[in-house]
Amino acid sequence: MKKVLVTGGSGLVGNAIKTVINGESSEDEWIFVASKDADLTDNNSTRALFDRIKPTHVVHLAAMVGGLFHNMNNNLDFLRKNMQINDNVLQTAYEHGCIKVISCLSTCIFPDKTSYPIDETMVHDGAPHPSNYGYSYAKRLIDVLNHAYHDKHGCLFTSIIPCNIFGPHDNYRPEVSHVIPGMINRMYQLIYEEKSLPDNEKVFVVYGSGKPLRQFIYSLDLAKLIMWVLDNYDSVDPLILSVDEENEVTIFEVAKAVAKAFDFKGKLICDTSKADGQYKKTASNKKLRSLLPNFKFSAFEDAIDASVKCSFPQLRSGRVCMDADFLCYWCNFMLGVMGILTKVS
Ligand code: NAP
Repeated sequence: MKKVLVTGGSGLVGNAIKTVINGESSEDEWIFVASKDADLTDNNSTRALFDRIKPTHVVHLAAMVGGLFHNMNNNLDFLRKNMQINDNVLQTAYEHGCIKVISCLSTCIFPDKTSYPIDETMVHDGAPHPSNYGYSYAKRLIDVLNHAYHDKHGCLFTSIIPCNIFGPHDNYRPEVSHVIPGMINRMYQLIYEEKSLPDNEKVFVVYGSGKPLRQFIYSLDLAKLIMWVLDNYDSVDPLILSVDEENEVTIFEVAKAVAKAFDFKGKLICDTSKADGQYKKTASNKKLRSLLPNFKFSAFEDAIDASVKCSFPQLRSGRVCMDADFLCYWCNFMLGVMGILTKVS
């Protein structure tokens, strides 16, 4: 039986793993921790956490995370905090003899100037996009650490590289949010809190040209893949966890899907004075597909719809409450049923 410590357990991905585990009968013990349980930038606090839990396995999700604008303004903090967290977690996991550690990188840490699609071999092949160099270099160093722990001590510390993630329990705070929760929050405000205009005269502003392309993975799909990695992937080298290349969408298409989920009656326009970030960062999931050819990703529009429905209690109250959990459970149950029906038809 494994004793799995999940750092960053209160976040988007941590909550998705909780939801998936709750729907399955796992023999393993899972412990989810947040910053209130231990400040992982602090070495003593990290050691005390590991002493208390004594994990055999670690899914390391904790990080300073944020969208384009938060990264652009805080590269130093992203670099230092994430380096501190990662160094403390990996060294303490080594000292505790943990059997396996899976850490989370991101497709946004790949070189800015590169050929597409990007794959796992290209992580260190050039400078990242200047907008998020702090986060990127800190994340890249996880891969360097994983190899160094393996070379020196034979540790099985590995990493996964998800594309952009969205889903229930996302971070909707405007100053830090990623593109999808940012849009969900702004559209919610426009529809439910902007009372001065009739619905069909409201205008939703898409930041930037709307043209950049992105791959998005639903957090519950990612959670299932992380659980598969824990049991089946035994290489130190990173593994990209992304939807297929043909499922890449433009930012404007994302806005349209969010608008559809809200049944928004107004107009969408682009504000080209706002930054676009990297035009694209198409990642290949060929390695994942070679290991797990039949994995079925949720349909993008259905997953956006479920995420929008799950966001309401959180947006209304500014916190996650029982209603949100129940609503998410129901939405994801329906998503599962739709998946089965699609397979059958
Ligand atoms: P998230 O929702 O922002 O949650 C971050 C988690 O890290 C929270 O549980 C937070 O705890 C914890 N944390 C932050 N600083 C901490 C500290 N000093 N000590 C202890 N815990 C700390 O993140 P997420 O979106 O689930 O991301 C999970 C992982 O996936 C991260 O490593 C991220 O880099 C990676 N990733 C994310 C995306 C994305 O689109 N979101 C894409 C690719 C990769 P509190 O709640 O207590 O603050």
